[in-house]
Amino acid sequence: MPAGHNRIATSFEFFPPKDEAMEKTLWESVERLAPLSPSFVSVTYGAGGSTRERTHATVRRILNETTLTPAAHLTCVAATRAEIDGIVRDYHDAGVRHIVALRGDALEGAGAKYAPHPGGYANAADLVAGIKKAAPDFEISVSAYPEKHPDSPTVEADIDMLKAKVDAGASRAITQFFFENDVYFRYLERVRARGIDIPIVPGILPVQNFKAAKNFATRAGASVPAWIAERFAGLDHDPATRKLIAAAVAAEQVIDLLDRGVTSFHFYTMNRADLVYAICHLLGLRPAVQEVKS
Ligand code: FAD
Repeated sequence: MPAGHNRIATSFEFFPPKDEAMEKTLWESVERLAPLSPSFVSVTYGAGGSTRERTHATVRRILNETTLTPAAHLTCVAATRAEIDGIVRDYHDAGVRHIVALRGDALEGAGAKYAPHPGGYANAADLVAGIKKAAPDFEISVSAYPEKHPDSPTVEADIDMLKAKVDAGASRAITQFFFENDVYFRYLERVRARGIDIPIVPGILPVQNFKAAKNFATRAGASVPAWIAERFAGLDHDPATRKLIAAAVAAEQVIDLLDRGVTSFHFYTMNRADLVYAICHLLGLRPAVQEVKS
């Protein structure tokens, strides 16, 4: 068992399901991962009214039916300050105490030029300040980009935005996924040199589907090294081998992070439990007996 396994903290990210089949997959994954006692589980937030309602419903169900601590993602997109403040108050009334605060993308999708909603929050730092004003006891996590956000001219400009978010009240940053750990450690050095001392939790994407991960990475400004592509090459029609390779790649990454002193990990689960469960097992995490919520 890896040394220091008792110190490991995890969080799991899910997206709200679009239909009944996806809902079933999501809840099977939540049930499978819950006994690993994550610090929190987060639920992403989309751009349309119906997807937003699905986020709220998923967060409510986590609160009502599990002993897990939910963190609700929230963006500044296509909403006035008053509308966002209303959502924040509703979450608070429901018992949610953790928000992942984001600017979000233009409605046309990632890559299109972002313009703040007139009367809305201007950016993620502005949103963090708004949430803290509405309810100071919210824990707020924000994003961080080891390879810089595609909208940002430089890594320094990106770190300036991170500093603004921390100054506004964020107490944790979760990174965009990356595959080269050196990229994360170089970024961490620059963040610390800028006087930012909150945890910068690495976001880990187990590669369930290489093609989809590559497309997602291109839009998110994350690089996909040639050696990763090489490992998945020729496996498009061989899901069983692909899964084994995915487990090996992710295991290598998290064990190296662990060896280099990282103790908190955020997993982009894509609503699937198997790979994440296996990687957590490698990190030394074992299921706890779950209390039944009365
Ligand atoms: P910020 O941190 O506010 O900005 C990122 C960078 O872009 C900064 O360097 C900033 O200076 C620069 N920048 C911002 N605006 C401009 C501008 N107008 N001109 C020039 N530079 C600018 N998206 C969702 O829609 N829903 C989610 O639930 C969601 N969850 C996420 C969770 C995590 C952990 C991460 C890493 C990302 C998530 N995203 C989500 C994606 C995110 O919304 C996009 O990456 C979005 O483009 C930026 O939002 P942000 O809060 O990360 O940006």
